[in-house]
Amino acid sequence: MSPVSSHKNPRVEVLIHQALPKTLTYLLPEGQAAPRGTLVSVPLGKKKGFGVVLGLSNENIDEAKLKPIEAPLELPPLKNALLDFIMWVAEYTLSSPGNVLAMALGGQSVLAAPKPRKKKEETETLISPEKHPLSPAQEVAANQLVEDVKKHHFAVTLLDGVTGSGKTETYCEAIEAAMAAGRQALVMLPEIALTTQLVGRLAKRFGFQPALWHSGLTPATRRDTWKAVAEGKAKLVVGARSALFLPYADLGVIVVDEEHDGSYKQEDGVIYHARDMAVVRGKMEKIPVVLSSATPSLETVLNMRAKKYQHVHLPERHGQAVLPRIHLVDLRKEQMPRGGWISPTLQNAIRECLQRGEQSLLFLNRRGYAPLTLCRSCGYRFACPQCTAWLVEHRDGGKHRLVCHHCGTAELYPRSCRECKKENTLAACGPGVERLKEEAGKLFPNARIAVMASDTQEHLAALHQTIAAMEAGQIDILIGTQIVAKGYHFPGLTLVGVIDGDLGLQGGDLRAAEHTFQLLAQVAGRSGRVDVHGRVYIQTVQPQHAVMQNLAQYDRDRLVETLIREREKFAMPPYARLATVTLSATDPAAGKEIAKKLAANIPLQADVEVLGPAPAPMAMLRGRFRLRFLVKTAKATKIQEFIRNWLSLVKIPHTTRVSVDIDPQNFS
Ligand SMILES: [Zn+2]
Ligand SMILES: [Zn+2]
Repeated sequence: MSPVSSHKNPRVEVLIHQALPKTLTYLLPEGQAAPRGTLVSVPLGKKKGFGVVLGLSNENIDEAKLKPIEAPLELPPLKNALLDFIMWVAEYTLSSPGNVLAMALGGQSVLAAPKPRKKKEETETLISPEKHPLSPAQEVAANQLVEDVKKHHFAVTLLDGVTGSGKTETYCEAIEAAMAAGRQALVMLPEIALTTQLVGRLAKRFGFQPALWHSGLTPATRRDTWKAVAEGKAKLVVGARSALFLPYADLGVIVVDEEHDGSYKQEDGVIYHARDMAVVRGKMEKIPVVLSSATPSLETVLNMRAKKYQHVHLPERHGQAVLPRIHLVDLRKEQMPRGGWISPTLQNAIRECLQRGEQSLLFLNRRGYAPLTLCRSCGYRFACPQCTAWLVEHRDGGKHRLVCHHCGTAELYPRSCRECKKENTLAACGPGVERLKEEAGKLFPNARIAVMASDTQEHLAALHQTIAAMEAGQIDILIGTQIVAKGYHFPGLTLVGVIDGDLGLQGGDLRAAEHTFQLLAQVAGRSGRVDVHGRVYIQTVQPQHAVMQNLAQYDRDRLVETLIREREKFAMPPYARLATVTLSATDPAAGKEIAKKLAANIPLQADVEVLGPAPAPMAMLRGRFRLRFLVKTAKATKIQEFIRNWLSLVKIPHTTRVSVDIDPQNFS
């Protein structure tokens, strides 16, 4: 390789923000400086591309074949710690570094030159911060978090406490300490829908509006926020998982709220777990990371026990609030109403609640009216033509449709059976939240009932309205999916009814019991205000199940013990490592062919076991057929190295997509 000096013009190595197999080399025009981290626009074929300069290049390419970079962008350069983080994430997830860079750059709107626009009037008014006194337990916990922020070193702390124990106030102290030291703070949330309530609280606490980062921002706001973060002007950022990749000028602390939440796992594109990557970023930035949860994940608990993570515990609910009492409703012993799902026991509880003028919440993790439609005449079940999934009946908004929750395919509700063509033979099977609303409306005709089910962007405004109405006491019975379980606090809510406590326990998912416990414990935590005992009714057909028993007794630790022993016994994570390699193709034969070749080329390695190929549980998704290998290795094995090496042995045509999921959470 020739030394750099032998080239007439200096050349630079640029990482393009697209999935390219490698970095590209460009000439640096005379008199121009582009040190590592500089964001540049470059010619890319006939188009324009964007990228980041990684350094001088000494690649030996004929100068005539090289193009010069166009110009440095008018954006602050990316810091070394962020570049290292991008490379690390790409390496760990077996993704293209360009795709990870794209997340850090926040999309095209950040890179494109800003359109001239009228400067918005500064509406931001500073209010005086409102700080509530901490309880002794909060004070002890906060002191430890603040200590780490002041030391400005890497440390991970589990902030552990039941719902209402005051975790937010506690981590606010760490945020305040970071800002006092002139640094920035990041609070990550599992769902953007959750930001409203928390942002309101943080704004009150600190006296200014935190910066928001999620997929729903307008292009102009995206660019402004990205710049403000890079220039250190945004002191406090609240965001979804993508906020982790922003170019903080000087980050001082990361808080991962509801750290156990499954939504931290991104399942497409770059497949990564934002909680785990937050710990990595904290390590690279040399700053503390706070993981906050009432029901921490097994992985976090084990890291804490291994003394890799610190632990601070908030024992009781802040103020005089008392934990709700949990009742298991044994559905085998109830006289269930015909075509209904609210048991007499739960009905009575709701009635009492209404009489006292208090609010209740009915939880059912199923959107729509009914999860399955079948023909009473021939037994035909309506399935999505693109996916291995039933179509879900929706009646909301006056539109009667069948919808696939996986690919979004929607059709008008048919008049006749697809199969036998008979009319008026279709029957709705099972309840969704809309059907539950219908039932509750018949049982309690005078109650004000609302549904909160959407977790999608377009319904965000409606969601915020429902939250506000609930807070204002304008709703008597709220019916919701998992979205209601996530961190909302409704002071007037005293009763929670879980319609189908067993729903999450079906299917052989590794984490089914853990996730069911977490979800139900979170839902249960919604109930109970400061001066009233909250009550929770969980309807179940298996009240003897460990999850139900431990829930009823608030014995999280015992369930965790059981699960840890199980994982150890069957050598499952974190006692081993897992990855899935999923092939998908529109032509099933072509996919099978590649899978066969891969199966014939599995490298022999004593500490690695490869199972498959087998059809993925969702054997078809968005019209593509999916085959899957499961890779299981010893804990110390470099699973990425094994997979990279294996995949390099077979030439895979572009018609077959390969996606690798390291540490999979969802096996669908
Ligand atoms: Zn039929
Ligand atoms: Zn579908």
